[in-house]
Amino acid sequence: MSSYLVSVYHNRTGQFEPYTDGEWLTGAIRCRVQLAAHSTPHDVADWAFQTFNADVDPFNGLPSGLPPGEALAAWVYRLVSLRSLSIGDVVAVDADLNGTTWWACEPDGWRPICAPNRIDQPPLHVDYVRPYLRGQSAVDAATVTEPDTEVHRLCVFDLSLDCGHIATVAVNGWHPVNIACCDRLGGVIVHGEYTAYFSTIDYVDVLSERYEHRQPAAGREPTIVLRRRPRGDEPRQPSWRGEPTSAGRFPVRVGATWHITHKACR
Ligand SMILES: [Zn+2]
Repeated sequence: MSSYLVSVYHNRTGQFEPYTDGEWLTGAIRCRVQLAAHSTPHDVADWAFQTFNADVDPFNGLPSGLPPGEALAAWVYRLVSLRSLSIGDVVAVDADLNGTTWWACEPDGWRPICAPNRIDQPPLHVDYVRPYLRGQSAVDAATVTEPDTEVHRLCVFDLSLDCGHIATVAVNGWHPVNIACCDRLGGVIVHGEYTAYFSTIDYVDVLSERYEHRQPAAGREPTIVLRRRPRGDEPRQPSWRGEPTSAGRFPVRVGATWHITHKACR
């Protein structure tokens, strides 16, 4: 078997049109896959197409009928609401010693391309999400807690925020009432250090939840924003005749940045 690191990038410029140099890509997902020793990068790209177009219901747990690595990647892909891998998207195959090759998804297969230079965010690594997925532990909240242990609740949430994003976050504990997402709402500079205002949470969707017994005073993982996407009503111009336009509703407020200097703090 050979190990490959596969990264999927979605095309932000156009969809269902072949990729051209200079188009903006956004990182979707990254995972490690074991394939037969004689596999080529082209085979790995085929694997990605199959896996990230698999018909998976993310709320039914780990999909059966797929090999374990493939099932986990397909599950996480759907859980964080990524759309299917399609024409115009790009896959990077890192074969360790043999370097990285880039492949654009075309109507009739894969076309090798040079490394793109317009990528707005890195892909989400499946391993970040794995510890939060239900079914990964036999411990259940209803069981009696063992003496001298405490229960940790590991969750993945979709949080609809007033900055206009839906943030998919991994949390040890229950969801917060606000969260650091982006700097659309302004921020504050204290002693030269900028901190963006937190975004308020309007709606919460629980995507996954599991429980784990740990020793008292065991550390808690920090909250991680796994990915963020627009809530769907950002201002937009029609790209084709008849497409509905939107003046946008988010963010619901914008803020200027405050400076708090050393003197002001005295
Ligand atoms: Zn935001």
